[in-house]
Amino acid sequence: MRRFLPRFRRPPDATPALLTRKGNIGSMADTRQVIILGSGTAGLTAAIYAARANLAPLLFEGAHPGGQLTITTDVENYPGFEEAILGPDLMKRMRAQAARFGTELITAPAESVNLKASPFEVASHGKTYRSRALIIATGAVAKLLGISSEAKLMGHGVSACATCDGYFFRNQRVLVVGGGDTAMEEANFLTKFASHVTVIHRRDELRASKIMQERAIANPKISFLWDSIVEEVLDSGEGKVTGVKVQNLKTGHTTVVPAEGLFIGIGHQPNTALFEGQLELDPNGYIRTFGGTRTSVPGVFAGGDVQDSVYRQAVTAAGTGCMAALDAERYLEELKHASNTPSPAAATAGGTKRA
Ligand code: NDP
Repeated sequence: MRRFLPRFRRPPDATPALLTRKGNIGSMADTRQVIILGSGTAGLTAAIYAARANLAPLLFEGAHPGGQLTITTDVENYPGFEEAILGPDLMKRMRAQAARFGTELITAPAESVNLKASPFEVASHGKTYRSRALIIATGAVAKLLGISSEAKLMGHGVSACATCDGYFFRNQRVLVVGGGDTAMEEANFLTKFASHVTVIHRRDELRASKIMQERAIANPKISFLWDSIVEEVLDSGEGKVTGVKVQNLKTGHTTVVPAEGLFIGIGHQPNTALFEGQLELDPNGYIRTFGGTRTSVPGVFAGGDVQDSVYRQAVTAAGTGCMAALDAERYLEELKHASNTPSPAAATAGGTKRA
């Protein structure tokens, strides 16, 4: 169904031979050509391309192997699957494809990175790995309300992605939580399918940009519940959303709003804590990319949701993962060329070259 994030999960296909056992972690002292951080669609696509370019990538799968699609049910918008494919199955296939071409996968998160070092350093489980190029595909997580009924019904009427799941709510009543641009965009999009959309916002004024507010307010299929929070998502014992219990913060009154769908539109959090102070980030914490997937540090590339606050789709993440691998490959070619050429003029296109 949709994309969003997770509890810790085993990778979709934790083939033992592919997992670096704890005792082996860090046993390769040599410098890699490319290390990839993240095993969602961006990271695994980058790995497929890098491996097929003979770069022998090393990929850290992170704390949530397979990324956001592993907690998704049906994926109907990933090209190539006429019938829906389950998110975990799609990731299992991508992982097997990356491994088939020689990607080495480590089922652990990178604990720290040093982008000032040359080559770059990635530390995990007390070992340090070195690489000439680095691809960051650590993704983002949808912020959630944090109530237990929300987690229980995720994928069964609760979603954090209207683009992914709106289609499932034809002629049904849906609710959207949030007052920012994401919520307004989701609410407007959902009116294409839903019979009615109610926005639930905790204050009496929206945070969204003027134009998005106006669009939502003018939409006859959207209404607003102000000063309200969702206390509980109701399933009436049916295992799917039947409504929500909403509290008005000004009056303290609690009411039940019947609905078949609940979309959480309260923002996303890019997984960029490791890179703070080392890479240029935008005000919302996303990695800034320039002319493709290059970041502010030459030799470091970023793909997927960690650098994309706009599209956030599996297919766009795969696309930018591919771009990151191609950009890294070109960068490494230039490095090689520069090191074989005595003239300093040889070091050009990819910015300052690193060893
Ligand atoms: P924002 O942080 O702008 O808005 C989050 C909204 O969710 C706020 O209204 C906030 O309420 C509410 N909220 C946050 N936490 C909770 C909670 N626990 N319970 C209930 N409500 C909560 O995030 P967005 O994702 O909307 O936007 C992020 C950035 O991305 C912005 O710069 C935005 O402009 C941009 N963006 C642009 C789009 C476009 O141009 N098409 C589309 C989407 C995003 P409160 O207001 O009270 O804090």
